[in-house]
Amino acid sequence: MSERKTVLITGSSRGIGAAAARRFAQEGWGVGLHCRARLDRAQALGAELRALGVPVGVYQGDVSDRAQVDRVVADFLRDFGRLDVLVCSAGLARQELFTDVTQASWRQVLGVNLDGVFHCCQAVLPHMLHRKAGKLITLSSMWGQVGASCEVAYSAAKAGVIGLTKALAKEVGPSGITVNCVAPGVIATEMNAALSPETLAALAEDTPLERLGTPEDVAQAIWFLASPAGDFFTGQVLAPNGGFVI
Ligand code: NDP
Repeated sequence: MSERKTVLITGSSRGIGAAAARRFAQEGWGVGLHCRARLDRAQALGAELRALGVPVGVYQGDVSDRAQVDRVVADFLRDFGRLDVLVCSAGLARQELFTDVTQASWRQVLGVNLDGVFHCCQAVLPHMLHRKAGKLITLSSMWGQVGASCEVAYSAAKAGVIGLTKALAKEVGPSGITVNCVAPGVIATEMNAALSPETLAALAEDTPLERLGTPEDVAQAIWFLASPAGDFFTGQVLAPNGGFVI
């Protein structure tokens, strides 16, 4: 087995996942990039990271579909032979009145944000259990901690991610595997591109540190948990949110 540590980051074609991928590559890790549709973006990032001298794989699949997740994980393990850290960053936000939420919309938001984490963690666990080592890092949101108006499905899914993280940490801790969650505040990524400049300014104003977070702010928290500094953390929620939720 290669000496080089590896990470698979779902939803790393852009945003927080892409910033995390850059962070791991800077540390010399082999990186599995993943996207649902924007293969061009993931491949461009892959070329950028390979220029740093690290091995990179690019994988595509919908995390809400278990068969596609199984294929991504099998392809990653075929290419790298080991997986040290899984980061579940793939996500989908949607603003709508609760009374307007359709069955299809509810299923899609829960399917990507919560089922997706279930699928990815379950798909990689046999490998980690066999090695008696590994770290799972999930992405929730401060809205999963306190709830967001007009984002009931998203808030429910992200609260579910916190519950999944805590319960799974208890279950697999004795097997040498840690499970932690990062719950960011408002981060300047394409996820928030639909918000008006006024809304974004108001969100920054409501943040004690008086700015929106950057993808790099969140990548630092993810890296902390993945690095040896995070070895004694499990079942925890780390919240890079500028003090928005205290
Ligand atoms: P972006 O919208 O910038 O990127 C989303 C990523 O997820 C893309 O790589 C996208 O792939 C991928 N993705 C979306 N749907 C699927 C799917 N069905 N299957 C597989 N991949 C999918 O999001 P962010 O980087 O901002 O968010 C990352 C995570 O952090 C998410 O879980 C989000 O909920 C969470 N978060 C974000 C906050 C923010 O303010 N931005 C705040 C709190 C939490 P593709 O490019 O191919 O579409």
